[in-house]
Amino acid sequence: MSRAHGTEDPAAQAWSIDLPNAGSTRSTYINEARWSEDGSRLFVSRTVDPRAWPLLDAARPDIGALIIIFGVLAILIGIARIFRHPRTAGRSYCRRCNHDLNAVHSERPSALRCPECGLSLDGRGVVRGFGRGLRLARVGIPALATVACGATIFLTSIAPRQTPRLIQTWPVAAASAVPNWPWWRRSTIDRPYQFDLRVDVIRVNADGLRLESTALLPGWSPPWIARPDGTTIAWTEHSEDTGWVPRVAWFDTVRGRGESADLGPAQGFPAICGWSPDGREIVALLQDTGSDCRTRDDGSAIIDADVMAIDTTTGTVRTVGRGRGRATGGPPAGWMMCPAIAALGTDPHARAVTLATEHEQHSSERSTAGGLALRELTVIGDSGVQVIPLAGEWVEASWGLHRAWITTDGRLGVEFMAYPNTNPYLQGGPERFIDLTSGAVSDPPLSTTAAYPATSRTNAPSPDGSRHVRIEVDWSAPDTVSRIGVVVTPAPNE
Ligand SMILES: [Zn+2]
Repeated sequence: MSRAHGTEDPAAQAWSIDLPNAGSTRSTYINEARWSEDGSRLFVSRTVDPRAWPLLDAARPDIGALIIIFGVLAILIGIARIFRHPRTAGRSYCRRCNHDLNAVHSERPSALRCPECGLSLDGRGVVRGFGRGLRLARVGIPALATVACGATIFLTSIAPRQTPRLIQTWPVAAASAVPNWPWWRRSTIDRPYQFDLRVDVIRVNADGLRLESTALLPGWSPPWIARPDGTTIAWTEHSEDTGWVPRVAWFDTVRGRGESADLGPAQGFPAICGWSPDGREIVALLQDTGSDCRTRDDGSAIIDADVMAIDTTTGTVRTVGRGRGRATGGPPAGWMMCPAIAALGTDPHARAVTLATEHEQHSSERSTAGGLALRELTVIGDSGVQVIPLAGEWVEASWGLHRAWITTDGRLGVEFMAYPNTNPYLQGGPERFIDLTSGAVSDPPLSTTAAYPATSRTNAPSPDGSRHVRIEVDWSAPDTVSRIGVVVTPAPNE
């Protein structure tokens, strides 16, 4: 882990720090600069290609195959030479034409030149004869080791046959010529772009900025949440890499170490939701793929989802309750899950809450226009499950749910994910607060939104409003980022 110390500019009272490996950034904007809730840390995230040598990685199957071919050829040529040039152990032979020089190897041959081909017989012109078995071993062992090496490279860079939605691309020429070619490339030629989300964690102290650690999350821009004190960030994984077993992963920003826990063995779609109020547990939702989608009158369906709590200290996974999510679509295309999210509360009478929403696109507006309709709340408590409809509530310019938590006054707080706004540097999501008994939805207090509307957030304020963060990005060439600077300034006096 690389570390850099921020510099303090006493005149401007501004701190700045440059993020390492700016050149690996694979998008033209910084995904997000987010404060931890206590203001102790800044999370600056960007999409990167983590591969140091993507072309070399892409060529692994071909390199392995060439090494195998080379090894096999060496064996064939070696065997052919042994049979075409028979030798007797201990005798001397001409290196070029294999003429038997009629001498024991340790003795000088009688002639200075080979009587057959005229090769000079001083020094390297004379070779010692060995038995056939030894000659085979001398050729075969290195050649077989070469073949094994090539096979290892080949087999680790291809995957066994998988579902046919991936593109067949190996061998490059055979892929199109040989239908049903039995292997898939695991190296990256069919993934010219491999994206991770890099989250640089910056400690904000009284004396400046310090790069604390760096987390790599799989995928272009996976949703992630930070513990309120900023010491851990969490996300879900559900891909071929996990064998489609739903998984919650988290990263200790202080130790710079990652851990994970499987939500399986059951299959399902995981979603990251938030933290328990005491900060010990991650809250995630596991949407049941085997749900019985009973169509309702409005054309949507309710599917079951488990509310999961994952203890980051022990790695223990427990199911807190069974909530509900909403699905739209229908036969024959199948059901499409709509965003749902869950939160845990410390109040024993409202332990877990799920919120089901539905994405809606308005054709009358621009393509980026769309939002989430809040459909219903499921409150899972000791006294049973209560479903509260939220008809008519609407969150504009949002495409997903970011996190949910239960506030100290017993409401459900939800942060939504916003479409990339006109500001290329920073994104922020709108928030809503929902009453757990009446279902009444309210915006956050005006004081936190009025000064910094989401559409013009050039300076993201710290939670206490005392500081602002600004991201400076330099492009030295098209699509290449040469520098990413994080600048923290005191909030301007107004
Ligand atoms: Zn000769």
